[in-house]
Amino acid sequence: MQKGKIGVTTENIFPIIKKFLYSDHEIFLRELISNAVDATTKLKALSSMGEFGGELGDLTIRVELDEKGKKLTVSDRGVGMTEEEVNKYINQIAFSGAEEFMKKYENQSGIIGHFGLGFYSAFMVASKVEVITKSYREGSQAVKWACDGTPDFTLEPTDKAERGTDIVLYLAEDSAEFGEKTRIEALLKKYCSFLPVPIAFGKEQKWEDGKYVATDKDNIINDTHPLWMRKPTEITEDQYAEFYRKLYPMADEPLFHIHLNVDYPFNLTGILYFPKIKN
Ligand code: ADP
Ligand code: MG
Repeated sequence: MQKGKIGVTTENIFPIIKKFLYSDHEIFLRELISNAVDATTKLKALSSMGEFGGELGDLTIRVELDEKGKKLTVSDRGVGMTEEEVNKYINQIAFSGAEEFMKKYENQSGIIGHFGLGFYSAFMVASKVEVITKSYREGSQAVKWACDGTPDFTLEPTDKAERGTDIVLYLAEDSAEFGEKTRIEALLKKYCSFLPVPIAFGKEQKWEDGKYVATDKDNIINDTHPLWMRKPTEITEDQYAEFYRKLYPMADEPLFHIHLNVDYPFNLTGILYFPKIKN
């Protein structure tokens, strides 16, 4: 009899990520946007603590889809990263050794988000990923990181006028679905409807001369001040009903609702709607 150990090397970490890390490939967008929200929230915090003295400016996160080029970009104007930070936060995690990785995650379900691998979920749908980033720190040199799903990456100085990060995904052939506007729109609605930083997906459309044309107004897909975060005394019955209709367009009017605002033993705000049950 022979006993042994199957070798796991860094060389096969990407196929593992691609096939087994997450069962749902679509969550890559949620992970990238939540990183963009984190980066923006960090910058706001630094600003309010006086550690960032510059202009915050427009903090809108932008999702851009190039349907022909099969390219999807998520851009933020958050803290950005220096070259050193890209090395530390992007490179070291994935290239710290597959064996260690496997040890750490064996018997773990629900890996998503908990172990700092959110960014790498991009490789489930992309054959190549670029990170173009410039730190908020004064005089920072922008850098571009690129990786095509092998453990080899490149990192070089680049030109970028604005502070923040662009994550560019070159969609893989087997992930063509994410190159479709309607698919991305549906995902943004599913995962990002109530995130606290405005997220723009293209421009608003208007009906003109028998067809839709783009206006110059951003198409903001989320509600940064959802109803449950507001004071019940400031909300009318109509607004409660409208919010429910927006979330559940096919459902009957709810029987009644309760606005929750719990402080102890944990913080919880929300609205509980009680549907009519026919029988
Ligand atoms: P997590 O978000 O759980 O830390 P991720 O794999 O999603 O793990 O991201 C790894 C790290 O890369 C983040 O903690 C952050 O330091 C850095 N990062 C990723 N995306 C961005 C971004 N858009 N702007 C600035 N830093 C980022
Ligand atoms: Mg993350």
